[in-house]
Amino acid sequence: MKYISTNHKTNETTFKEAVIQGLAIDGGLFYPTEIPVLPENFFKSLNNKSLYLLAYELLLNYAEGSIENDCLRKLAQEAFSFEIPLVEVEKDTYSLELFHGPTLAFKDVGARVTARFMSHFSNDKKLTILVATSGDTGSAVANGFLGIDGVDVVVLYPKGMVSSIQEKQFTTLGQNITALEINGTFDDCQTLVKEAFNDKDLRSRKNISSANSISIARFLPQMVYYFYAYAQLKELNKPLVFSVPSGNYGNLTAGLFAKKMGLPIDKFIASANINDVVPEYLKSGKFMPRLSKNTISNAMDVGNPSNFARILEMYDHDWKSIKKDITGYSFTDSETKKTMKDVFNRTGYVLDPHGAVAYSGLKAYQKENDVIGIFLETAHPAKFLETVEKTLSKKIEIPENLKATLDKKKLSIEMENSFEVFKEFLLSR
Ligand SMILES: *Cc1c(COP(=O)(O)O)cnc(C)c1O
Repeated sequence: MKYISTNHKTNETTFKEAVIQGLAIDGGLFYPTEIPVLPENFFKSLNNKSLYLLAYELLLNYAEGSIENDCLRKLAQEAFSFEIPLVEVEKDTYSLELFHGPTLAFKDVGARVTARFMSHFSNDKKLTILVATSGDTGSAVANGFLGIDGVDVVVLYPKGMVSSIQEKQFTTLGQNITALEINGTFDDCQTLVKEAFNDKDLRSRKNISSANSISIARFLPQMVYYFYAYAQLKELNKPLVFSVPSGNYGNLTAGLFAKKMGLPIDKFIASANINDVVPEYLKSGKFMPRLSKNTISNAMDVGNPSNFARILEMYDHDWKSIKKDITGYSFTDSETKKTMKDVFNRTGYVLDPHGAVAYSGLKAYQKENDVIGIFLETAHPAKFLETVEKTLSKKIEIPENLKATLDKKKLSIEMENSFEVFKEFLLSR
């Protein structure tokens, strides 16, 4: 399998190169030259497969030639080490719970796979991963790389601007993870990382890389749970739709890949908060990125979704065919809270704000279409404790592993917002 850039100004490259580079040199996103359609017997045997074997077989299509089969199987087994259950919430409505990983959010899937590919491809040269975070990405990436041989992770975050739960999740880990508490904003953190990548002297002395959300290794493994959800459905006597709570649209794009590979998905629902650039595009045909607005489903506060380039590539920029496969809805915070309350009172199921947006999109679609719907529940409600407890007037139980994290000591190093200081720090390690 070879990879091209969505900007079409570079040569084809291997999976290994695409993982190491992260972003193509022409600024585009990596995209496979072909999306294989799987044979019928693959789908017949689907429900006898464990999650990790399924992941192995699916990823093999994309990574073959860059990694030996045995190594890939072991990688899949280590990365897909938690359950992804499909839970029936009400008739024809299922929640795919993606939050049973170490940081209680679906980003664990991509981060754990990426970490292991990076370590495998680093060729015994010590690799330092730099991540700037406004909260969630830092913990998923740091946890994904925790204890991985040959890789150090440096997380930069803005002092006083991430929630205390989020901060604990990436500052208490120790081992190969270092957290830098920067006296600045998230943009300052991002600028420091960019400056590091642009510094030739630093790059010649230190093997640095990133693991950001557009990496092909973070994006591809997300296709696995669409297959796994399908395998868990007891009966499918109606068309199947997936509702995906979306920000950068990596999760939804991975679902489109699953459909292209032959999984019988009738439709995707792009469920957004008021950052509704994609639902607007589906209505008007015009893609108009803008600054993001803050909401209670903050992991979806994205004004210029990066994976949109992959969707355009997949459909040859044809709005009409994109509309055939994706329907979009957007919801305000008060609509989202109302949904959380209604669903809890009616069924007892506790939604987090992101899952609630996805549930709302599914219900809007089901009003007009008789379908079986699966919505992706991307975060554990305890990650958004304040909002959920206030909205439901109910105490939320905090999972054991999160509780343990909250009791640990914060280990971050405070640093001024200065590239000189940051560079010195990196070189001194
Ligand atoms: C990142 C994130 C999303 C959005 O996923 P995309 O792939 O960026 O569309 C949704 N929910 C949660 C909890 C997230 O962390």
